[in-house]
Amino acid sequence: MPQNLLDFDLEGLTARFAELGEKPFRAKQVFRWMHQSGVADFAQMTDIAKSLRDKLAGMAEIRAPGIKLAHASADGTRKWLFEVGVGNGVETVFIPEEDRGTLCVSSQVGCALECTFCSTGRQGFNRNLTVAEIVGQLWVAQHSLKTEPNRTTGAVDPRPVSNVVMMGMGEPLANFENVVAALDVMLDDHAYGLSRRRVTVSTSGIVPAMDRLAERCPVALAVSLHAPSDALRDQLVPINKKYPLAELMAACRRYLVHAPRDFITFEYVLLAGVNDTPAHARELIECVRDVPCKFNLIPFNPFPDSGYDKPRSDAQRAFREILQDAGFVVTTRKTRGDDIDAACGQLAGRVADKSGRVLKRIHKAAA
Ligand code: SAH
Ligand code: SF4
Repeated sequence: MPQNLLDFDLEGLTARFAELGEKPFRAKQVFRWMHQSGVADFAQMTDIAKSLRDKLAGMAEIRAPGIKLAHASADGTRKWLFEVGVGNGVETVFIPEEDRGTLCVSSQVGCALECTFCSTGRQGFNRNLTVAEIVGQLWVAQHSLKTEPNRTTGAVDPRPVSNVVMMGMGEPLANFENVVAALDVMLDDHAYGLSRRRVTVSTSGIVPAMDRLAERCPVALAVSLHAPSDALRDQLVPINKKYPLAELMAACRRYLVHAPRDFITFEYVLLAGVNDTPAHARELIECVRDVPCKFNLIPFNPFPDSGYDKPRSDAQRAFREILQDAGFVVTTRKTRGDDIDAACGQLAGRVADKSGRVLKRIHKAAA
């Protein structure tokens, strides 16, 4: 099997080249060709000796995951479904805004964590994505979008993806090594050169992995909170039983020592009647009192048989105002790409479930 060079960060590629008897600057050149120029064919790497190009062509390849479907929404949002093995697909979404272009990247096929309101969680879990499959999502987006004029400015933008959020399918910190290697590529000046502040990992709160991320690759951090008490969070985000709120808040404080921003973003899905009352908002203020933070409220995006409802707009407003009056910066996530099911938590992809969860649910429903 040819070795996929999208699987390497620069350090790894340099080590591999050393094994081949090639100098570090050769690795750097190839790395730049693939990530900065989007070249997948060694023959096009014109400043590299023909002998090395031939050697690489014989043993290696540059292969992003195959595109199964590509959609464009009326509001400019793009969505790709990537094929990652039989019965498995993951989704990637690009959200253009005036001052930035954000790519929402997946880290796993499905998710093993079973948050009750999440359609990815509902579909079960198959496997972790490889580094090439994670980086490949950015590779495809960057190099396909850079040939198109920007919708607002009309100009062709050589680097349309300015921000990455690890908020697609999967729990990034449950696929730690591959995600960190992929982040290394995103941050590398010889590749995408994104700043740490513009790359965000979103986690449901795997405490030990948050500490490891702070050490290894401190990018911006978003934490999916969704409930202000352990009793409620245990139900909505079951990993809370393992890492309850007090531990999670302490981990957030530790993370901030290394973080590129001086706040944590708390994501909070508003579920009608479940966690969206004024009492919940007040309890939330208490819960986060020791953590410098901002809030990102996400009105629940429905999917079939979810069992939850969208929050009413007056409930959303009241919730938001209570936080704002207490001095917090609050954003409410706009629903983008709704017409192509590209909104948060609607990313369905396709998961050949290996966890047995999907079968269990079918049996339960039939009983
Ligand atoms: N596993 C990570 C990242 C992926 S989910 C995490 O949980 O943080 C990205 C965000 O979308 C999370 O905050 C998640 O809780 C939220 N989300 C999941 N399902 C949703 C839904 N149906 N509606 C709105 N947001 C949802
Ligand atoms: Fe997994 Fe995040 Fe969905 Fe929870 S919300 S099931 S952690 S993808």
